[in-house]
Amino acid sequence: MTIRGRVLVTGAGGFIGHHLVKRLKAEGYWVRGADIKEPEYESTAADEFELLDLRKYDNCLLATRGGIDQVYNLAADMGGIGYITASHADISRNNILINAQMLEASRLNRTSRFLFSSSACVYAQSKQRDAEVTPLREEDAYPADPEAGYGWEKLFTEELCRYYRQDYRFETRIVRFHNVYGPLGTYEGGKEKAPAAISRKVALAQDGGSIDIWGDGEQTRSFMYVDDCVEGLLRLMASDYNDPLNLGTDRLISINELVELISGIAGKRLTKRHDLTKPQGVRGRNSDNSRLRQTLDWEPSVSLEEGLAVTYRWIENELRHTGRLSNILTARSAD
Ligand code: NAD
Repeated sequence: MTIRGRVLVTGAGGFIGHHLVKRLKAEGYWVRGADIKEPEYESTAADEFELLDLRKYDNCLLATRGGIDQVYNLAADMGGIGYITASHADISRNNILINAQMLEASRLNRTSRFLFSSSACVYAQSKQRDAEVTPLREEDAYPADPEAGYGWEKLFTEELCRYYRQDYRFETRIVRFHNVYGPLGTYEGGKEKAPAAISRKVALAQDGGSIDIWGDGEQTRSFMYVDDCVEGLLRLMASDYNDPLNLGTDRLISINELVELISGIAGKRLTKRHDLTKPQGVRGRNSDNSRLRQTLDWEPSVSLEEGLAVTYRWIENELRHTGRLSNILTARSAD
């Protein structure tokens, strides 16, 4: 197979980065992965994997050395709503250091393209107060009123990418992800997102039992399966579009409905216990995909039912392999 180019994926030990490395390898690229940790659930497919703390500038220079053409900068200190609302200072400092120094090192090492993974958390909070939210268009990030900490840091890095383009003619791409889920992602420990957290709770619950839900469950979101996310990343990198672009689905669903879907996949009837003391983020958030369709001539297509079935089974298996489902199964088989 002909090598199609040399690519660096930062955050390659994380959820999206690990899937992206696999896809890039399958497409024939030479891939270097960099992260502070190795992938947790299977070994990396990267040609080289380097354990580097990218808050340190010298490590950013090391990561981008040796004729790298494209950089997918996915490394970030991030997590679900509980984590990002509790750690504003750490998240902002860590991510500003990673992003600013990765941009500069990539430019100095003459990489030809740099893709920054931004987030729907950049959107103005005032436009997300209703569960029946109007889907967010790219221009809705301004006037700026993003999520504290994480959202501000993403929005500023989007601007930094623009300055690098203007001042240095350095080619940047900016993607705004809307809730990505799938197998091989964090599902416990505090950094997991809603689909993984709910899958874990459902898997651990007895049929007929109950599970805790953060907030009243009427908050809404859209969710994208990780294979679609990776496809979108490759398409955006190959395009000549350099303004921020949404990457998500536009199927709005409440957290209560998400719980119903996952319980259905598990074949369990469960009662929801709503914990109103827990953070729930904005009331409603959806992606307007008009520009995505227009720019990439494509949009995500894996249905939530399909994607959640794979994700739920994976999490259930993980819990089984680590011995945490055994009590429940024993109890069930005794029924
Ligand atoms: P993840 O937490 O699984 O992956 C991020 C990786 O970055 C982790 O493996 C982590 O170890 C690594 N990292 C953190 N600090 C580092 C450092 N100092 N040096 C090197 N590596 C470091 O998250 P993910 O879901 O794969 O997200 C990837 C990117 O997409 C992130 O930039 C995130 O902000 C963005 N994003 C994700 C979602 C989503 O729904 N998953 C939504 C919006 C934006």
